[in-house]
Amino acid sequence: MNNYDVIIIGAGSVGVPTAMSMARSGLNVLVLDRFSSAGQGSNKAAIGGIRATHSDPAKIRLCLRTLEVVSAWDETYGQDIEWTEGGYTFVAYRKHEEETFKTLLKTQHKYGLDIDWYDKDDFLKIVPPVNPDGLIGGTFSPHDGHCSTLLFGHALHEQALHAGAKFRFNEQVIAIDVHEGHARGVKTDRAEYVAPIVVNAAGPWAREIGKLVGLDHPVNPDSHEGGITEPVAHFLGPMVVDVRPALGSANYYFYQLSTGQVVFCITPSPSIWGFDRRETSTFLPMVARRMVDLMPILSNIRVRRTWRGLYPMTPDGSPLVGRSQEIGGYIMAIGMCGQGFMLGVGLGELLTRLATGDLTSDDEETLHILSPYRQFHGEEALK
Ligand SMILES: Cc1cc2nc3c(=O)[nH]c(=O)nc-3n(C[C@H](O)[C@H](O)[C@H](O)COP(=O)(O)OP(=O)(O)OC[C@H]3O[C@@H](n4cnc5c(N)ncnc54)[C@H](O)[C@@H]3O)c2cc1C
Repeated sequence: MNNYDVIIIGAGSVGVPTAMSMARSGLNVLVLDRFSSAGQGSNKAAIGGIRATHSDPAKIRLCLRTLEVVSAWDETYGQDIEWTEGGYTFVAYRKHEEETFKTLLKTQHKYGLDIDWYDKDDFLKIVPPVNPDGLIGGTFSPHDGHCSTLLFGHALHEQALHAGAKFRFNEQVIAIDVHEGHARGVKTDRAEYVAPIVVNAAGPWAREIGKLVGLDHPVNPDSHEGGITEPVAHFLGPMVVDVRPALGSANYYFYQLSTGQVVFCITPSPSIWGFDRRETSTFLPMVARRMVDLMPILSNIRVRRTWRGLYPMTPDGSPLVGRSQEIGGYIMAIGMCGQGFMLGVGLGELLTRLATGDLTSDDEETLHILSPYRQFHGEEALK
């Protein structure tokens, strides 16, 4: 009864779509999570942005696939996940940002992304409320968008169950059974399970799981906060990303839901490390000042709620994905940083092909880029 083809540790942004994809390919899959239902780790903290606008081909490719699936979800499954194709904009007020965004266009176009640079006047037609003072322009990728993390998480879980994946909640993995250098199952605080493949999809807790097989994964919990306002009349189409640093923060991004609320979050600088998920008193004044400066129309909007969650951060801002070279059957799908929600579906399909031995040449390239054994150089430009 406790024998499976694959055990996935973590029912989050990565674990659930991976279970769905693997179960559909005929694998007998078990997902274990220490929390009481799917998506209670970082998934529920995400604000739902899904973009293929990245600087590296691996993330572009995976997210293009996620966008394909998500944009057809309602039609395919009859489940409303509040998908909205509003696009993403990256605004430039400094020469440096303009150059970076324009340079990235080459890679983005090469890998099939529909994105272009717009000078100030044209950019203001796409995002009319943005502050025109000092604005140079920005990029716009019309097929990016957003959906509800809660509805999509629930929909993925339902489809994974429908495909035959099994889920066990309130079970914490406390040991991984390794025999002669090969993983052959896991032990939780309740039971033992057997499988020749064990996937670490434990998000911000991935390092703890790595220690169970004697590996030290460079993934650290980096806390970020999000917030949501009252609903107001529709005024904003795309997600707006401002990458300029300011005192106490790096980039921040926000968009308006189809139901009128504005959803937003910011990257603290310096980073705030640790597992604390209690909201702070510093987040809202900091992000509010920056948002009103960028978009003065927001000055009287009221905030309803804030929350805090964890990015599973890696040294260079890109995920760590692939088979372990030390432990046979142990697969890492970790270090999603600020993009696990948007990577999940594309990554789940890639992990399925990795498990079944059906990798394509594109997959090989993606895995090479995301290899856990790469040297870390700098940081991904649009992390
Ligand atoms: C404020 C904020 C906004 C964000 N916005 C976006 C966004 O717009 N778009 C986007 O793509 N991403 C966004 N993110 C990032 C995104 O939330 C994460 O990258 C993503 O959720 C990570 O997915 P994961 O599957 O790796 O981890 P998780 O979703 O956290 O899943 C890991 C699971 O593993 C389980 N687990 C851990 N250890 C064990 C154990 N020992 N035994 C059993 N279970 C275990 C946990 O309980 C958890 O459920 C945002 C994050 C924050 C905080």
